[in-house]
Amino acid sequence: MNPDTIIIGGGIIGCSIALRLAQSGLKVTLIERGALGREASWAAAGMLTPQSETTGKEPLFEIGIRSRALYRDFTDELRDISGIDSEYRAEGTVCIALRDDDLHEFAVCSRAQNALGLRAELVSAEEARRIEPSATPAALGGLFLPDDHQVENRKLMRSLAAALAKLDVGIVDNREVTQIAAEGNRAIGVSCSGELFTAGSVIVATGCWSSRLLSTVGMNLEVVPARGQMLAVKGGLTMSRVLHSSKVYVVPRLDGRILIGATVEYAGYSRQVTAAAMNSLMTAAIELAPAIADCEVTEMWCGFRPDTPDHCPIMGPAPLENLFIATGHFRNGILLAPITADAIKEAVINGAMPAYMDRFNWQRFESKQPMNKSS
Ligand SMILES: Cc1cc2nc3c(=O)[nH]c(=O)nc-3n(C[C@H](O)[C@H](O)[C@H](O)COP(=O)(O)OP(=O)(O)OC[C@H]3O[C@@H](n4cnc5c(N)ncnc54)[C@H](O)[C@@H]3O)c2cc1C
Repeated sequence: MNPDTIIIGGGIIGCSIALRLAQSGLKVTLIERGALGREASWAAAGMLTPQSETTGKEPLFEIGIRSRALYRDFTDELRDISGIDSEYRAEGTVCIALRDDDLHEFAVCSRAQNALGLRAELVSAEEARRIEPSATPAALGGLFLPDDHQVENRKLMRSLAAALAKLDVGIVDNREVTQIAAEGNRAIGVSCSGELFTAGSVIVATGCWSSRLLSTVGMNLEVVPARGQMLAVKGGLTMSRVLHSSKVYVVPRLDGRILIGATVEYAGYSRQVTAAAMNSLMTAAIELAPAIADCEVTEMWCGFRPDTPDHCPIMGPAPLENLFIATGHFRNGILLAPITADAIKEAVINGAMPAYMDRFNWQRFESKQPMNKSS
């Protein structure tokens, strides 16, 4: 039997959408070129931090706060279905000022966020170190964000994959979609090297590889890879909260690993982990939390964030009937997965996205579209 929906891409975005559609009673097939959750969604740090580095005026702020509010229930629900806990941790985030400019920025952010009713507490250096003792004694002050949390994204991906299996989502892995199949102005399925899979609707959730696939139906949307390099260390350091400086973040995991990230580089699809990046991340991390100097390096990796010209996602119905897009989540795809999944479910089932998603439609890049809908 043909599925109601084919989702292309098994990262956090495709898997979360599959979850919501399957729970709504749709028959869903998800096609993944490699293995589920092994690209950006595996490489990420798992921070759920819409309040870091923001005054609340940025386009992503509102949906970031909304999605963060969904997270505890999202991970609890996944744990109940899959039996796998994704280590949602609600300890908050501490931003550390190492220069006078940081103090000024923290004051601006906290004033703006407090005015919006959000908790963003300016704290002294002493108080910052009481909240997170691993922070450097050289701190000048801090900004405590008690509601910015984290999740273990690799476990979250395992939990999602197990939940999809329980919900009878058809997973086709190690299979690359080479074309979106269209008849006239309507998507009818996908083609994998000539083999046609038909479905009532098609959702493109292929992260930084979305441009090429969308070009097969004449769409000219720019989604590029923004490489992020990271490393992990392990040692005697006890740490419970995410720490930020203006140069680096440090994320403690329950198994004792401490993640240090991340670069943002436009280097195409090169998977190199470079000495220069490791050096600068490590130097900045030791400046922020000096005890890291004695830890052992256990892992180095990189991944590709899907970036768009305005750094915001592209979500919602495409110009072709029955075709939907959910890509371009750049630095926030882990955070934005629950809200994206809910919104795309609304679009597929009820024909409309919630109004707060309007600004993320593909039409904002319309002037760049040499559209040929019937190609
Ligand atoms: C170093 C780093 C740190 C990050 N930290 C955070 C963070 O702390 N918090 C946060 O919210 N976000 C973070 N992000 C961003 C986040 O990881 C991404 O926004 C998110 O994972 C994107 O999810 P996705 O499902 O769109 O893409 P991906 O996870 O890349 O998944 C896309 C999938 O599509 C598949 N695919 C591609 N083309 C095809 C095809 N033709 N046919 C079949 N399958 C195909 C790929 O194989 C891949 O599995 C980070 C990213 C990086 C790299």
